[in-house]
Amino acid sequence: MKGRELLMIPGPIEFEPAVLEALGAPTTSHVAPEFIEAFGQALERMREVWLCPSGQPFVVAGSGTLSMDLAGANLIEPGDKALVLSTGVFGDRFEDLLSRYGAQVTVLRAPLGETIPVEQVEAVLRNDSFKLMTFTHVDTSTGVRVEPRPLGALGRTYDVLTVLDGVCSVAGEELRQEEWEIDVALTASQKAIGVPPGLALLMASPRAMEAWRSRKTPVGNYYADWSKWLPIMEAYEARKPGYFGTPAVNLVCALNVSLGQILNEGMEPRFARHRRLGRACQAAIRALRLSQVPASPNCAASTLTAPYLPEGVAGGDLLPKIRAAGAILAGGLHPQIKARYFRIGHMGATKPGDLLATIGALETGLLGCGYKFEPGVGLAAAQAALQT
Ligand code: PMP
Repeated sequence: MKGRELLMIPGPIEFEPAVLEALGAPTTSHVAPEFIEAFGQALERMREVWLCPSGQPFVVAGSGTLSMDLAGANLIEPGDKALVLSTGVFGDRFEDLLSRYGAQVTVLRAPLGETIPVEQVEAVLRNDSFKLMTFTHVDTSTGVRVEPRPLGALGRTYDVLTVLDGVCSVAGEELRQEEWEIDVALTASQKAIGVPPGLALLMASPRAMEAWRSRKTPVGNYYADWSKWLPIMEAYEARKPGYFGTPAVNLVCALNVSLGQILNEGMEPRFARHRRLGRACQAAIRALRLSQVPASPNCAASTLTAPYLPEGVAGGDLLPKIRAAGAILAGGLHPQIKARYFRIGHMGATKPGDLLATIGALETGLLGCGYKFEPGVGLAAAQAALQT
């Protein structure tokens, strides 16, 4: 029997063999011509994946939290006002992070499973002057997706920089950074970008770069300072060597391979595939009569699904049974409901067959826990949704 389960958590995910091969290739010098070419190409490809032709890409070794830190450290000066729109744990993280850089932070917190109405955001922006507003495109703790476009428009109307946490969305959910006027869209390698954990990725608009250039105080974080990294990004893109901190050579090579695959698929087909996977997984969950954390299908992410456990079934009992049936799923993360729900990731390289295998393993696990349903109803619902 095959010795490996499908990794269907909301990151890290299943990776393509060519990406893993690049990761396992002999490490070259960070100033070798072939590495300079791969890094330069990866930066160019990022603009196409983010749909942000005039953006400035940054690739720095670290996790997604470092991307958040890059945004906060470079765009906040002590005393600046920041508005955080929180739809879960990762929104809340921005409150803490921006405060460390001296921001006066106002938080608008959505009720669990919901988004914040745009009119409510506008009312707050109208009554105060903020430098920056953050929001989480997909909050991985709730599976709630926020619509970025109206928030980008509000950012322009009220002259507020918009920062989108796209750790669980970029290269999966539809995102058109430039057209939607988002100033920073940040992510990490291990989710829909399709590369093992270890790279912080960020795209800054010309307006964000201008705001950084006109700072009056130095950036209060040495490693995250764009003045250290911008010359390096510019050098690699000009196919010249550069050095500030040793780049994660193999991860950058793997990133270039993955971005190439993403662009080969095409952004529109990729967005559509993720929408289909999300709809199919959520249809299966409904057919199994489990409720979900997102309050409505309109705000449910395409990249992950967050079902509540059936009454009387513990995650600690169910998840090992699903794993034994072939799929690794994630437990809860949001402190308010941590023990009451679980999470299924379906992004990046996920194929329809992977999702069907996962739903099959979920059904096996539920049956093993004594939950009553007609075996196959989840699979049938997923299969039907995959055909649409
Ligand atoms: N934001 C979101 C939406 C996330 O899902 C995560 C990770 N799950 C992070 C930020 C933080 O990323 P990392 O764990 O790579 O630091």
